[in-house]
Amino acid sequence: MDTTTSSPHAAPAYKRILLKLSGEVLAGEKDVIDRAVALQIARQIAAIHNLGIEVAIVIGGGNIWRGLTSSQAGMDRTTADYMGMLATIINGLGLQDALGHVGISTRVQTAIEIKNVAEPFIRGRAIRHLEKGRVVIFVAGTGNPFFSTDTAAALRASEIGAEVILKATKVDGIYDSDPKKNPDAKRYDKITYIEALRNRLAVMDSTAFSLCMDNKVPIIVFDMFREENLHDVVMGKRVGTLVSDK
Ligand code: UDP
Repeated sequence: MDTTTSSPHAAPAYKRILLKLSGEVLAGEKDVIDRAVALQIARQIAAIHNLGIEVAIVIGGGNIWRGLTSSQAGMDRTTADYMGMLATIINGLGLQDALGHVGISTRVQTAIEIKNVAEPFIRGRAIRHLEKGRVVIFVAGTGNPFFSTDTAAALRASEIGAEVILKATKVDGIYDSDPKKNPDAKRYDKITYIEALRNRLAVMDSTAFSLCMDNKVPIIVFDMFREENLHDVVMGKRVGTLVSDK
């Protein structure tokens, strides 16, 4: 992989990627799903799709509901987590609509059956969609409480043979402490899974990191709000923080 520069005619660094979008990336000032923001994200996805890259997406639900927060306020954790998974379905449909608007053909596959709304998750069918040039949006996380959509991303990436997880956030990589609270926080260019686990870096939960480590799926954490970033990442430019075994 070329991690320095790319000429206008260079080939993308990946053939199949899994893009992890947290629910927060869809949110605006007022709305849980801001249409303008969703369209802007859709355009960035369309740009990399047009390079011939197969794009699968796992979408989170944190802009609408987080199970852990609600269980800490006294709600039954399992119920709260199912509500969180349903929230991801809402986001998935919002993203599907935005992608359709910019001319991208999509399929939504859900880990919790909801027949009138989305296909069930079927691995072989998901791969077929990707091969046919459709963007596949995986929703409802893993379908199990006590997990996160980051873990769903690690799981689906392993299942479909994605070469990398691109974790889009509002921060430009992984820091050794919270850059909003500590002005001296240091950003890592790269870090190993073990270091990420040992330092309990909050960017992903330990289940997600471990699954990526066991299945050798690299993760790139980057800022999706710098418009050129997604394109630069898939072209192999060094953007954000790379988490891998080296
Ligand atoms: N969730 C779950 N199992 C999963 C994935 C998600 O129970 O496999 C629930 C959990 O309550 C979580 C919520 O769905 O808080 C929303 O997902 P997440 O917090 O991962 O979304 P993100 O932070 O990416 O927006």
